[in-house]
Amino acid sequence: MSELDQRVTGFALWHLSVPVSARRDHGIGSVEHAVDLVVLRLTSEGGVKGYGEASPWVVFTGSAEATFAALDRYMRPLVLGRRVGDHASIMADVQVAVAHCTEAKAALDTALFDLRARIAGVPVWALLGGRFRDRIPLSCSIANPDFDKDLQLMSRLSEDGVRIIKLKTGFKDHAFDIMRLERLRQDFADFEIRVDYNQGLHQDVALACVRDVAQFQPTFIEQPVKAHLRDLMARIRDSIDVPLLADESVFGPEDMLQAMGQGLADGVSIKIMKSGGLTRAQTVARMAHAGGWSAYGGDMFESGLAHLAGAHMIAATPEITLGCEFYQASYFLTDDILANPFPVEDGKVVVPDSPGLGVDVNPLALERFSVNRAGLAA
Ligand code: MG
Repeated sequence: MSELDQRVTGFALWHLSVPVSARRDHGIGSVEHAVDLVVLRLTSEGGVKGYGEASPWVVFTGSAEATFAALDRYMRPLVLGRRVGDHASIMADVQVAVAHCTEAKAALDTALFDLRARIAGVPVWALLGGRFRDRIPLSCSIANPDFDKDLQLMSRLSEDGVRIIKLKTGFKDHAFDIMRLERLRQDFADFEIRVDYNQGLHQDVALACVRDVAQFQPTFIEQPVKAHLRDLMARIRDSIDVPLLADESVFGPEDMLQAMGQGLADGVSIKIMKSGGLTRAQTVARMAHAGGWSAYGGDMFESGLAHLAGAHMIAATPEITLGCEFYQASYFLTDDILANPFPVEDGKVVVPDSPGLGVDVNPLALERFSVNRAGLAA
């Protein structure tokens, strides 16, 4: 029996509530006190374990409770007893059996990749096409309603070698956004600045606000209006000389096809939590590249486990050229769930070389932050 003929015999789940160090405001909602995550652990017949994370945000992709139920009730029967090597077949069945729940699918896809890679003794990126890059420029989001606290964070980022920030806008008022842009341009001139509205602008004022912000020449302006206002996105794109990025408007390849046809942006934020897994994220990136769009490695409110999945995916995907925003494990969570820190050096994510995702999960953290669990006996 080949190693990949081993069956999946364990399917354990944890719903975690992981404390965060500050409040963060985004256009569509806020996060304070803690983030809700779901961790999946698959075990093979041979006793190898693979982990995956779902990082839902209730105003964006869905709830942790729905994610937990999707995995526990509907995906578990499609996975247990299947051969580890039948990864694509399992994901195809899940895609048919469960609508939406892209974060749950991302967790399952990640855990299958981690399991296969650990059995094969190779890093996950080796199963995703091989390595294109081993360092990924890191962007940190500036989103604290208390701007003085963000200025302290900027000093820390500067000392750490981070040189890219994404200013979260559209959650207070336009004057606050312009004031922060002026201050950041003045005090941190060596930083690259990007802007993300997270759908925060009302359609009546969107064009005027975005034109003002475009005068600061950020690298891009992301998702100024609601995801479904696709014609307005296209009009905003045509009215500014700064690239417009789609985030909430594009989840998976199906949205990407439509978005390119509508000309609603110049680039896309790719997240495995939106696309429903690593392979589908790569598909979005390749579609973007084929259509002349740029691609950015976005994330949700994640722990280092989901950051690792994204890092391996970007390492093997040349089309994602704008870096990544895997900052939460280093700059937002009070404690991570990994046994060792998520690897960042001199403002860049370091892609692991060791088998699987490359950093182990800390089982004590799963215990400590757990609010619900299932399947631990297997
Ligand atoms: Mg965004």
